[in-house]
Amino acid sequence: MSTSFDPTTAPILATYARFPLTLVKGEGSRVWDNQGNSYLDFCAGIAVCSLGHCHPSMVAAIEKQARTLIHVSNLYFTEPAAHLAQLITDLVEIPGKTFFANSGAEANDGLIKLARRFGRHCPNPETAEARHEIITFNKSFHGRTLGGIAATGQQKIKDGFDPLLPGFRHVPFNQLNALSEAITPETCAILLEPIQGEGGVNTATPEFLEGLAKLCKEHNLLLMLDEVQCGFGRLGEMMGWRALGAPDLQPDAISWAKGMGGGIPIGAFWVNDRPASDDGTALSSLLGPGSHGSTYGGNPLAAETSLAVLNEIADAELPANAMAREAQIRETIASWKHSAITAVRGKGLMLGIALNPEVVKAPEGKTIAAHLCGELLTNKLLVPPAGPDTIRFLPALNVTEAEVAEALSILKDTLDSL
Ligand SMILES: *Cc1c(COP(=O)(O)O)cnc(C)c1O
Repeated sequence: MSTSFDPTTAPILATYARFPLTLVKGEGSRVWDNQGNSYLDFCAGIAVCSLGHCHPSMVAAIEKQARTLIHVSNLYFTEPAAHLAQLITDLVEIPGKTFFANSGAEANDGLIKLARRFGRHCPNPETAEARHEIITFNKSFHGRTLGGIAATGQQKIKDGFDPLLPGFRHVPFNQLNALSEAITPETCAILLEPIQGEGGVNTATPEFLEGLAKLCKEHNLLLMLDEVQCGFGRLGEMMGWRALGAPDLQPDAISWAKGMGGGIPIGAFWVNDRPASDDGTALSSLLGPGSHGSTYGGNPLAAETSLAVLNEIADAELPANAMAREAQIRETIASWKHSAITAVRGKGLMLGIALNPEVVKAPEGKTIAAHLCGELLTNKLLVPPAGPDTIRFLPALNVTEAEVAEALSILKDTLDSL
């Protein structure tokens, strides 16, 4: 490749405000740019690269499957998708069935379709009309499809795309009273991230989760979890919600993407086999033949890779590593008593470090979080922002104690220099 080739001027639609950095190689928790500089990667593709970059077990699965069978239509069965669906059901520990998609937004669109079917199957008892409203939360993020942006509780994600898909009501997170008041005879489901990611790393409290589960039972609403960012080990449990101390919570449906593929595009949603109504119809049968589909969803290459990733997360006990690294990060940051940091939020390796706007200043037109991410990049640490005043640590689940210590030292030096 000629040295004058500059990817930053490529004819790619400018929907991202990208950092001026071209990455060409990765290994473990490190990536290299096209100038030969290396970076510690605590962005990990935004919580995607669960095993870090180019992990041997993932590479082996891709190589083997690429030589065996890459893609066939979902008109036929394949072994990788069957094994992956079984593994997911085993990990959820509740009987249910999985649909495979390619991304988180697509998986959430599937949940929205499930909720619409459920609202038709169990209509408003007074009017006998289908219920269709889904309650989601302020600062939530559910993806960029038209369904996903309608579900999302952030105005900037929706701007200029009217008319939006109707049937969503947004309420403040972690406020049971507001949630209870928002339920109407039209409501059929509640959709939430157990820890909000893009909205600033906000953790659902156990009381909120327990109360929400109770409201769902009382009003016959589906309880749907968006675990696209927090699922499969990141919070210290294979099921994110299990890390949050609400043992009575039983989801009706769950979506995943990001970390489940380790970097190969795959998403999924799971639906509980429980009866949807007194007639005994299973919830998981409401989306029957012809009701939903995806050309690529769960194709052999993606499914076999995801299987390797999820097995490695479990076998190498990476959820336990996520917990140990969280403790290391929290203890180290607490010991600094740094005036630039106001709080550390989140769980496991989905952590938000909240910045003090009195101390951290940004140039005009830039949030303090984006500004600090840029300074950290200059110092060879990659992290993404979460909202205007929080940066995120989302490293690979197998990140080492030494790598975490190195990242923390870069963070401290950078904050000291501001
Ligand atoms: C990233 C994300 C999505 C969207 O996933 P895509 O794969 O980008 O479509 C949805 N929900 C949550 C919680 C996310 O973090």
